[in-house]
Amino acid sequence: MKDNRLLEVKNLKYSADGKEIIKGVNLDVKEGEIHVILGPNGAGKSTLANLIAGAVGYEEPTEGEIIFDGKLLNGKPIYERAKLGLTIAFQEPARFEGITVEEYLKLSARNNPDANIEECLRKVGLEPCEYLHRYVDESLSGGERKRIELASIMCMKPKLAVLDEIDSGIDFVSIDEIGNLFKTMRDEGTTLLVITHRENIANIADRASLMCDGRIVETGNPKEIIKKFEKECLTCTVQNPEVLKEINLNK
Ligand code: ADP
Ligand code: MG
Repeated sequence: MKDNRLLEVKNLKYSADGKEIIKGVNLDVKEGEIHVILGPNGAGKSTLANLIAGAVGYEEPTEGEIIFDGKLLNGKPIYERAKLGLTIAFQEPARFEGITVEEYLKLSARNNPDANIEECLRKVGLEPCEYLHRYVDESLSGGERKRIELASIMCMKPKLAVLDEIDSGIDFVSIDEIGNLFKTMRDEGTTLLVITHRENIANIADRASLMCDGRIVETGNPKEIIKKFEKECLTCTVQNPEVLKEINLNK
């Protein structure tokens, strides 16, 4: 049987400044799926995303393995992972002084001869004639930068895209709009690992994982994961000491 796991994260641990942030994450992402990681603020979602992508300072986990397309990624810098077909949209997208949107998207599309950069811009709701000549700097709003980041990933068409809260700060008209975009990307061959704390984004996933306190506590059907998130995270004893106090008092 073909092993369709595109990404395997095994017993991953990561500490920074003497604090353990990722405490033994196990996660599989299957080829061709939209996999959502749902979890409260501070759960370690961005740290996990940075470790998977090999962001600067996150190339080497403290423990564990990250395997992508059968290759061990530990220690590899971000550009080597990108060459293998793994890309990330950071929670805070980078700015590139002196580069226009057109140049930025052309750079993203350099290994994808089928890319149509104008089409990618339209898909994220930006009119090419208004944006192609703008600069990818602080003159763009946060939402516009996130849309351009998404367009850049569509131009690149990687095997796996890690999208860290691409939905926050983006003024998409509706969840349907962003959900349809994710589905188009998936159907065109990009596996998606979508990080969010919004339940309605998790609804469009093929599978979902719940992250809490540096661990993936469950993976499965998105509906079940959302239920667990609502039931357990909103009254979380790890993130809300007050709730823990109350539970102890009622024991
Ligand atoms: P999330 O994306 O789920 O909101 P993060 O991965 O950003 O969570 O952060 C998880 C926890 O780790 C937070 O408590 C955060 O303050 C802490 N953290 C993140 N980066 C560092 C760092 N470089 N040094 C110390 N603590 C950090
Ligand atoms: Mg985050």
